Amino acid sequence: MGNIKVLGSIAVVFALLIFILSSPLYVSISFDVERDPTQANRGGESFEGIEVVDSLLDVMEEHGARGTFFVTGRIVERFPKTVKIIGTRGHEVGAHGGFYHDEVIAGLPVALQKEKILETKTQIENVTGERVLGYRAPGHRLDENTLLALEELGFEYDSSVVPSIGGRALYKHSIFSPDAPYHPNKGSPFVRGDMGMLEIPITPVFINGNLDSLLAYQGAAITRVELLLAALECKIKKKPMVLYLHPGMMAGTSDEASSYRGGEYLISEFDAALTFLDLLGARYVALEEIKSL
Ligand SMILES: [Zn+2]
Repeated sequence: MGNIKVLGSIAVVFALLIFILSSPLYVSISFDVERDPTQANRGGESFEGIEVVDSLLDVMEEHGARGTFFVTGRIVERFPKTVKIIGTRGHEVGAHGGFYHDEVIAGLPVALQKEKILETKTQIENVTGERVLGYRAPGHRLDENTLLALEELGFEYDSSVVPSIGGRALYKHSIFSPDAPYHPNKGSPFVRGDMGMLEIPITPVFINGNLDSLLAYQGAAITRVELLLAALECKIKKKPMVLYLHPGMMAGTSDEASSYRGGEYLISEFDAALTFLDLLGARYVALEEIKSL
């Protein structure tokens, strides 16, 4: 009998392993490219992180990873070449609010939000030649008018919702929001409804509780255990893993970053994290591809 139990347990573990290895893991790497928030708070304007975009693109190319970069209007104006390169190297470029990152547009009437988002959308399209389909609200501040504006402008998805304890501290966010892609409600971006566009929530990290899902603000790279747990949850729930990152946090040269190891260290951590995800069978997709999975 003992032998049968042992054999049974081995079979269960084996079956679980087969399930984990064989079920697909879709991973969307998303970057918000904006000015450095610490500098911005002091009234200055700094674009830490722009200098590491090329390195990030190299790492992603090595892993055959197509990702999504959300940019503000100011970034497009100031660094059109960088935005163009992101596009020509095969990645998706999405809109990150209006012109300035710190300009809060949630709360404004639909027509005004539409005007401001359209400005950024048009700027991006003029540089990349590709239609902009995705949006991420700066500071995750979005409301029902943002969604209406996006839908009227032909956007196919928004990716701003953070369904976690960390997200609860954000503008009107809820820990109870769906954690897999959903069609939002016309009256609230945070609950299911029948809008045509998709809401693609950011995958929260369990342990460190930080919003930057791969490389936390402290510069401590996410542990393999965290990555493994997130990957298993995504596989079991059959939902994509949406990684949320900022080049500015990886540059390691800003005031905020000076307290941690950034630059080369975090770039190589990013590379190592993707190698780990490769082992788990990651298939990298830009956010715009999620609707057709
Ligand atoms: Zn942002």
